[in-house]
Amino acid sequence: MKITGLKVYQVDLPLHEGNYSWSEGKSVEVFDSTVVVVETDAGFTGCGEVCPLGPVYLPAYAAGARTGLQELGPQLLGEDPTQLLKLNRTMDRVLKGHPYVKSAVDMACWDILGKVAGLPVCSLLGGRYGEDVVLYRAISQRPAAEMAENVAAYRAEGYRRFQLKVGGRPDDDIERIHAVREILEPEDKLVADANTGWLMHEAMRVVNAVRHVDVYIEQPCPSYEQCLSIRRNTTLPFVLDEVIDSVDAILKGAADGAMDVVNIKISKFGGLTKAKQARDLCVSLGIAMTIEDSWGGDIITAAISHLAHSTPTEYLFTSTDFNSYVTKSIADGAPQRVNGRMAASTEPGLGVIPKFDVLGDPVWEFRL
Ligand code: MG
Repeated sequence: MKITGLKVYQVDLPLHEGNYSWSEGKSVEVFDSTVVVVETDAGFTGCGEVCPLGPVYLPAYAAGARTGLQELGPQLLGEDPTQLLKLNRTMDRVLKGHPYVKSAVDMACWDILGKVAGLPVCSLLGGRYGEDVVLYRAISQRPAAEMAENVAAYRAEGYRRFQLKVGGRPDDDIERIHAVREILEPEDKLVADANTGWLMHEAMRVVNAVRHVDVYIEQPCPSYEQCLSIRRNTTLPFVLDEVIDSVDAILKGAADGAMDVVNIKISKFGGLTKAKQARDLCVSLGIAMTIEDSWGGDIITAAISHLAHSTPTEYLFTSTDFNSYVTKSIADGAPQRVNGRMAASTEPGLGVIPKFDVLGDPVWEFRL
C-alpha cells in the first residue's frame, strides 16, 4: 500500500470556560489545531491531529506543526502507511527532531492500519482492558475559592480525579491545594501541577506546607535536576511531565527514582508508535501513567482513548477527554465522557470520521 496524498487542515477550538490558564500567567483562549488526512492507493484514508498547548508550553507551536508538515509531507508520498516503525524511521531520517510535527501523520497511519486489519487501534496497541478508562479534569488557574467551586461542579459531572493548575505564587498555591482538597472525598485523587512554574525554594515551601495533605506534586520546576532535588526532599507522590519526552528520559528517571507517575503525551513523543513504546517501557518498569496529549479535539481524544484503553488498568493513573473542553466538534464517532470515564471506539481504526464542513479547505495538500 502507498501513501498517495496528504491533506493538512487548520481549525480553531474555542473553550467552554473562555480560557485555560496555568503557571506563570500563561493562558490560551482558542486552541489552534492541525488535522492531517492521509490517503492511499488502496482506498483507505486515515486522520490524525496535533494541537500544542499554545507556543509557550513545550517546544512546539501550531503554525510550526503545519510548516513542518509542509517539509515532511512530500517526502512521505509513496511510503507504506501500514508499516509504522519503518514509516517513523523514514520521518526521522527526512526531518530531524520536531516530534510533534510527525504525531498527526503517525496517528493517521494507525487509523489506516486499523481499517485495513478490521480492528480498533486499541487492539493493535495491545488489547482492551476493562469497559472504560478513568479521566482527570484539568482545573484552570483561578483564585482558590473559584478553583474549589469548579472542582465541585466537575465532580458533580462524575470526575473523581483533578489536576489543579498551580505554579503561581507559592502562598496562593498552598491556599488552592488546601481549598480543593477540603471539598474532595478520600478516594478522590488530587494533583497539583506547577507546569515548571516554581523555583526550587518556592517548590520547597509548597511541599512543606502541604506535606500532610493527600496530594500529588507534578513537575514543580523547569529542569529534571531541579525536580529531582524537590523529589528527594518530599514524601508526597511525584509526577513528571514536561521533562519526560523520550525513552532515555524515562530510563534515567526510573534509575534515579525520580517519579512515581509520568505523563505520556502522544505528540511529545512523536505519535502513537513512540508513545506506545514509552507506555510499554513504563509498564515494564512499574511506573503508572497519565495517557494524554498537550491538547486537542475529537481526533486526539480518540487517539488518547485507544492508547489509554490498551494500557493495563493498574498502570493507567488517568487519561483525558480534551474534546469536552472545547466548543467545536471536528469529527463524528469520538469518545464521549460518561461519569468521568470514556471508552475507545470498537470500530476499525480510530473510529472517527472528520467533519470536512467544519475543517474547510486544506491549507496544504500533497499528491503523488
Ligand atoms: Mg502536566
